[in-house]
Amino acid sequence: MELPGESVRALVEALAVAAPGWLPTVIDVGDWAKRYGARFNSWRLPTSQIKRKQLADVYGTDALTLLRAVYGPEAPGWLPELPAVEVLRTVLVQNYHICTDARGREVITRRETDTDGLPPGKLRINSPYDTDTRWAAKGKDLAWNGYKVHLSETCHTDDTDTTHTPEDAQAGQQRDTPAKPAPDELPNLITNVTTTDATVPDVAMTDPIHQMLDRRHLLPGEHYLDSGYPSADLITSSQADYGITLVTPLQGDKSPQAKAGAGFDHTSFTIDFDREQVICPQGHTSSSWSPSTQRGVDTITIKFPTATCRPCPVRDQCTTSTRQRRQLTIRPHAVQQALTTARDQQSSTSWQTKYALHAGVEGTIGQAVAVCDIRHARYRGLRKVHLQHVFSAVALNLIRLNAWWNAHPMDRTRTSHLSRLELALTA
Ligand code: SF4
Repeated sequence: MELPGESVRALVEALAVAAPGWLPTVIDVGDWAKRYGARFNSWRLPTSQIKRKQLADVYGTDALTLLRAVYGPEAPGWLPELPAVEVLRTVLVQNYHICTDARGREVITRRETDTDGLPPGKLRINSPYDTDTRWAAKGKDLAWNGYKVHLSETCHTDDTDTTHTPEDAQAGQQRDTPAKPAPDELPNLITNVTTTDATVPDVAMTDPIHQMLDRRHLLPGEHYLDSGYPSADLITSSQADYGITLVTPLQGDKSPQAKAGAGFDHTSFTIDFDREQVICPQGHTSSSWSPSTQRGVDTITIKFPTATCRPCPVRDQCTTSTRQRRQLTIRPHAVQQALTTARDQQSSTSWQTKYALHAGVEGTIGQAVAVCDIRHARYRGLRKVHLQHVFSAVALNLIRLNAWWNAHPMDRTRTSHLSRLELALTA
């Protein structure tokens, strides 16, 4: 509701400055000032659905009237070059459609759903003032209009610096005298900052982040990631392309049997990739092995013969298919192997202890929010917001280096003023 109204308002504001003599010749300034005088976030839209629809129709009609005037023969030729014109034109196309009713009258109505031609969220403008922002949601409670920032930082285990790079090695040699610091005493430094619009899924950024780290010779040996970043393909390609081991939880087997924790899931079957055959828990051999691509992902579909499965005494534990035969979908050999190994590893206590190291980045995000207010964009447009994120990362690195060089203990994200005073007095 606010978007088309505010987009009309943005153009009217621009025209009132750029073409103050022309604007009153195409609109009733007094009437439009009542509708578009105040920003739309400064007053409440009506709650009645009927009134909302009426308002939406008015905004659509006003947008069309204004744009036709701007592109009309009487308008100054440079008016369409105003950025607010193109924004309103796009908002109008994305949110309304114009048709003719049974009496031949032009009707403008709002697109309500994607079946009306409403574009997907990743393409839809959400603000006339920043056309790069997008709406996104996480879970049921969190929704925002804007961007996502991906921060990568160094981290250290007791015996491993996970960012072994030539630059680090040289820096380490210079700092080695008189005593080499223990790995867990080294500051964690942000090594990469990526900004995307809010609709880009985390998993789409894993490889681009590796490419950026590779360009700067900062690839880690192990990369600890949130569960949103990995996929089975990325585990194999990161190892093959960059020599990186991803330490990250993978989604479990999604088969109905695995989800229910009952019956025969994938692990109950013996897969022979060389002979392209699968042996089921009853010792029967699959009848078909069909590689295919599903939504851009390479898969292999395996079927067992109906004649074998129908009389099987344990069929209830194996399949609920109406065709009364079991079907499996697996990934190509290398990917399937990586998937199985990763799932086996992540259930072990040692892996979970190791993965706890990943929680450190939550502290970095907390620090970025508390110190740099990184969740609020100070600029408009993806490129400038990215620059803000880079500046924030540089600031955090300087704070951490300053603390390390001056032997100050690393601050906690929630240190009370009293505790801070106590630290200062004892320093
Ligand atoms: S239902 Fe078919 S695949 Fe499953 S155990 Fe029985 S014979 Fe094997």
